[in-house]
Amino acid sequence: MSIKVVKFGGSSLADAGQIKKAAAIIKSEPERRYVVPSAPGKRFKDDIKVTDMLYSCYEKASLGEDFSADFENIKKRYNDIIAGLELDLSLDAQFEQIRQNLAHAGREYAASRGEYLNGIVIASYLGYTFIDAADVIVFSDEGVMQRKETVHKLRERLADVENAVIPGFYGKSFSGVVRTFSRGGSDVTGSLVARAVHAAVYENWTDVSGILVADPRVVEDPVVIPVITYKELRELSYMGFSVLHEDAIFPVRTAGIPINIRNTNAPADPGTMIVPDSEINEETAPRTITGIAGKKGFCAVNMEKGMMNSEVGFIRDVLNVFAELDINVEHIPSGIDTLSIIADAKSLEGKEQLLLSELRKAVEPDSLEIEPEIALLAIVGRGMRKTRGTAARIFASLAHGRINVKMIDQGSSELNVIIGVNENDLHQAIRGIYDAFISSTLD
Ligand code: ASP
Repeated sequence: MSIKVVKFGGSSLADAGQIKKAAAIIKSEPERRYVVPSAPGKRFKDDIKVTDMLYSCYEKASLGEDFSADFENIKKRYNDIIAGLELDLSLDAQFEQIRQNLAHAGREYAASRGEYLNGIVIASYLGYTFIDAADVIVFSDEGVMQRKETVHKLRERLADVENAVIPGFYGKSFSGVVRTFSRGGSDVTGSLVARAVHAAVYENWTDVSGILVADPRVVEDPVVIPVITYKELRELSYMGFSVLHEDAIFPVRTAGIPINIRNTNAPADPGTMIVPDSEINEETAPRTITGIAGKKGFCAVNMEKGMMNSEVGFIRDVLNVFAELDINVEHIPSGIDTLSIIADAKSLEGKEQLLLSELRKAVEPDSLEIEPEIALLAIVGRGMRKTRGTAARIFASLAHGRINVKMIDQGSSELNVIIGVNENDLHQAIRGIYDAFISSTLD
């Protein structure tokens, strides 16, 4: 029987009601053998995640301040869950131990207790084995997760465990200190477990029915992406899509394991499948465009010089100046006698004058200027490769919206088109392209 690893995010486990939903999902398929929970998240908009409660408790404890009221609130979150699940379970011994360790075991230890305690509760509710992540997720003493050792330990530990709950977000260093991933890191734990047990799929349960084609703050009610490849996801994530923790991709991607993003509150929805590139076929690309992302915060350094294209090493000399000043370069659109460097505005901050004078020294351009407030728009889709007229449709929609295009860059993979526009035009550009490619295909 194939194995599914299921990770549930904080909002899916925020209270007893949510945990019951998650448990029903787990129990509905016997393949769902290994469960990776986050700490309880927000129950309502202005609620505080248990992880954040633990961080502030730690701040107080480490300053020697009284943290008992904060700690009581954390205990209450768990005790309410235990009561709501009608469990015969007491966490008093664990609470006491955490309270005693809080000030000296470190900030990461404090934060990790959210997942640890939730893991115990959920294992008890499901009747599954609880496996402390500190015993199976390995970090170096510098806090870097050690993938090989981790996968090895997990594989060994899970070999004859039919069903288990392994809390997300933390592990232990070689010298025995509890360490955590960065925020949202339970995704990484789930990915490692999926890799270790050769899962058929890594299900990541959250509170949306999958990855949306565009940002819902920009486009009203965007549709869900049914299937996306790892490569496409990487392009979109780089341009601002936040779906999964970045480090969650690698362990499963390299093993060819798909990720299925699902909604705990709408379990019948199929969600989004993130699949290896080798698994795509005609049926999995019903649309030309998979996703549209946009990011502000760039600027264009535009230069012109007669006969630039016959000067060997011109671009190299320009790029050297950027490298020496430690400025991130994103794109280099060029003409015969013109060259623009699209750079990250933050990394250029405060260095504008120095950059201009160094460039003048290095390549003596006829004209040189910095154009601020550039946004980049990424239109990503494996379907573009075989669809003619995509570029025409993109530019027609931008022209229709009277949007001035400052730069165009199509990667050689034909997987994405990057367009530079003024920051003020970004949202309208995204909406226009969404209408042209997505709305037009809906009934
Ligand atoms: N509980 C941690 C956080 O809030 C980790 C996670 O939920 O993935 O960031």
